Parts: sequence; structure tokens; C-alpha cells
Amino acid sequence: MNFWSAPALQLDLRTLLLMTTVMSSVMSMVMFAMHRSFRGEVRGLDRWSLGLLCVAGASVGVSLHGALLQQAAVLAASALMFWGVGLSMIGTQEFFARRPSWWLFHGVWLLGMLFSGWLLLAQPHLGARIAVFSLAAFVFYAVQCWLAWRHGMRNFSYCFFGVLMTVQALAALARAATALAVDAADMEDLRDGPMVDVFMALASFMSLMLAVAFLMMAMRRLQCILEERSTHDPLTGVLNRRGFDIFYAKQRVQLGRDGRPLSLMSIDLDHFKAVNDRYGHVVGDRVLIQVADVIGQALRESDYVARFGGEEFVVLLPDAEVPRAMMVAERIRDALRTGWDDQLPPCTVSIGIGTHLSREESLDSLLGRTDAALYRAKENGRDRVELAATSEPA
Ligand code: GH3
Ligand code: MG
Ligand code: MG
Repeated sequence: MNFWSAPALQLDLRTLLLMTTVMSSVMSMVMFAMHRSFRGEVRGLDRWSLGLLCVAGASVGVSLHGALLQQAAVLAASALMFWGVGLSMIGTQEFFARRPSWWLFHGVWLLGMLFSGWLLLAQPHLGARIAVFSLAAFVFYAVQCWLAWRHGMRNFSYCFFGVLMTVQALAALARAATALAVDAADMEDLRDGPMVDVFMALASFMSLMLAVAFLMMAMRRLQCILEERSTHDPLTGVLNRRGFDIFYAKQRVQLGRDGRPLSLMSIDLDHFKAVNDRYGHVVGDRVLIQVADVIGQALRESDYVARFGGEEFVVLLPDAEVPRAMMVAERIRDALRTGWDDQLPPCTVSIGIGTHLSREESLDSLLGRTDAALYRAKENGRDRVELAATSEPA
């Protein structure tokens, strides 16, 4: 028997439900493992992981439907579904750094269970029970929709999550309306039919899709954090050499196209070793942070400051000639005198300034010239600005 003559695959609802249950459980484990590794970076993964496990548990509860514990199983499955969807809301709120609405979570599931129990045991009505669950799910999904669109970055994974959540919220609302509209007697006839299985299979499939979307957002968040870490200096928060090179390359292409100038500033703290020796490394670090802050405040939004290691900073001034670079350098020196934190030892800097001589001049050449100007500033007594030579070193 070859592939083509094999009988068609029979995919009944129970199999589909079993598959999504198994996949939800696996996804729950993946999310929990990710939470263990990145709990400091991405929040909410543990709630989502537990939520998925609840949904998987609810599917098992529904599979027991019709077995020994019929009503108890239905009630347990309802509770697990409420918690599953509610926990995803808590997880999404934590992901977006919002305070989790535990009161809403507990209020909705308790009320939901109260009504579900009543509609199952006292006044049996399947349609109303589905409506109650759908309305509760709508509340949990609506909160997440709002968060996704309000706080989400505009990229594919966040949009995907937002769209799925919106579909889920609208589907829950539509389900509530149709469940109430169907005649009660018809609905009771469907109790043991495929209706409940279809509903459960769809619900667990969609919760799986939502989990995938949430995981994609988490990966995107991690990517941003890792990119930020690889391009920024952890002490001062300004760019590191790698980050500087990236921004420099971008600016070079952009400015070169229009023939606009680009200037650099090499900045070095004066007698910084003495600060460390006298006040200790911790104070030295605080001085470095304060200097980075002062430099940042003296710049335009389009300028970049980077720490090249130790106590040396480099500033990139796109679209600036020497006079503007001079002005910025003097502003920095001035701010170090007048805007300095009194709790820290005073600090001065020496600065070397240079502008690209031609489109062909390399970054290394320009840095070489601004460094030479910086050393000249040191030799001439420190706390001063020197201009780079206007010819490339031989
Ligand atoms: P000059 O005016 O000639 O530049 O003298 P200086 O003392 O600033 O220069 P030197 O190169 O002799 O010393 C630099 C000091 O910077 C030595 C090192 O201990 C300190 N340093 C480098 N990185 C850090 C850091 O991350 N934190 C602290 N606190 N100190 C650092
Ligand atoms: Mg120094
Ligand atoms: Mg130095």
C-alpha cells in the first residue's frame, strides 16, 4: 500500500481535542522553561504557562463528560476554563508591566462558577451556561485586547497577538449571543451531541494559537533586550563601541549621500585615577554615570554618545561642522562646573574635536585625529578643548 492508496485520515473531534490538549501541555512546559530562564526579562510567562495547563485540564474534564463524574467533571472543567483564560489576562498584564487585576480575575470566575453551577444543577440550561462562560471570557480577552493595542509595539508579533485577541473577544461575544438565541429545548438536545466537543476543540485550539502569539511577543521582547545589551554600556546606559559603530555606519551613509558634514568628539576625564584612589571605585562609577548624563543632556536628539571603555567617551554629531561641535564641547564643560552633583567630587574633561575631511576618510582616521587633539588638550593643561589637525596623519 503506498501513500496515495492509503485510506483518508479520519480526524474526529475527540482526536482533535486530544491533540490540542497534548500540544497545550507541551506549550505550557515550553513557557515555564522560558520563564525559568528569563523571569527577570519577560514577565507573565508563568501565568500563561499555568493558564494553558488549566485549559488542557478543562479538555480532559470534558472528555470525562458522560462518564462517572458527569456533573462534577463539567463543573471542574468550567472552573479550569475560567482560570485558564483569566490567568492569561494576568500574564498579559504582567508582560506589559501593568498591575494584575486579581480582583477582576477572582470576581469573574467566582460569579461565573456561581451561575454555571446554578444553570447546571438547579435550573439546567446549556445555552445560558455557554453564554455565562463566553461573557466571562469576553471580559478577560477584552482587557488583553486593550493592552495589546495600547501598549504593544507596532511589529508583527504584537499585531498578531492583538488581532487574535480581538477575534477571540468578538467570537466570545457572538457565542454568548447565539447561545442565548438558540431555543432552550434545542440546546438541551445538543447536550450530548458534538456541540460541546466543537466548542472545546475550538476553544483549546484558539488558546494554543494565542499562546503561540504570546510566545512570539516574548521572543521579540527578548530580542530587543539582547540587542540593547549588546549595544549599550551597562554602567552608564550610553552606547558601547559596537552600538556606536552601528549608528556611525547608518549616519555615514545618510549624510554622505547629501554631502553633509559629520563631527566627532573624544572626551576623557581628567585625573580620574586620582578620584578612584581617593574616593573608591563606587564613587568613581557614580562620577562616570553623572558625566554620561551631563554629556547626554548637552546633545541634540540626533547626536549619540558612546563609552569607549574606561573613562573615555566619544560623541557623534551628525550634520555638524567644527563651530557647532565647539559650542557643544563648551556646553559640556560648563555643565560639569555648574550642573554637577555636589555629593560627588568635582570633575573636568579634556576634549578633542574633528570633522570628516572627505567622504573617503575612515572612522579610524577621524578617531586618530580627535584622539591626537585630546592628547594635546591633556598636554596643554587639561580641562580644555582642542581641534584636530586638518590633514590626515602621514
Ligand atoms: P588623565 O587626566 O591623563 O586622563 O589621567 P587619568 O587618571 O584620568 O587617566 P588614567 O588612564 O591614568 O586612568 C584612568 C582610570 O580610569 C584608571 C582606572 O582605574 C579608571 N577606570 C577605568 N574604567 C573604570 C570604571 O569602569 N569604573 C571606575 N570607577 N574607574 C574606571
Ligand atoms: Mg583620564
Ligand atoms: Mg583615559
